[in-house]
Amino acid sequence: MQYGMLVKMPNSFPQTDLEAYLDETLPPEEIAAIERLLREDRRLVQQLASIHARRNAGVHSVSEIWRAHRLSCLSREQLGSFLLQALPDEMADYVAFHLKVVGCRFCLANLADLKAQQHEDRHSTQSRRRKYFQSSAGYLRRR
Ligand SMILES: [Zn+2]
Repeated sequence: MQYGMLVKMPNSFPQTDLEAYLDETLPPEEIAAIERLLREDRRLVQQLASIHARRNAGVHSVSEIWRAHRLSCLSREQLGSFLLQALPDEMADYVAFHLKVVGCRFCLANLADLKAQQHEDRHSTQSRRRKYFQSSAGYLRRR
């Protein structure tokens, strides 16, 4: 119970820890813990983004930080599911945040590649179906 609550309540992260995270002054294991949570908790992402926005006069942009850490980068599978609109809402929001707010070039390139690939797949599935239909039609006729 205790453990579950800890996992489910990433907002228990003190603001100062998140600030330190942005400043990259946290010990590595705390950075790792925050990054793990960022992957699954949208509120924490928003909290981090708003802290960053508040101190926007800072040296680095949030996109620089995210790109540097690659912490938010998405797998091909996740991006593919996003294209197919098959992701749970929270994950879809996260992907949209990553692509539109962070504007991660790495993931945008990956997404563009996947789009092209899906387009091709659709084409070849159609022609495969057509071929299959034609051959089975021929087969039926021969019988
Ligand atoms: Zn990315």
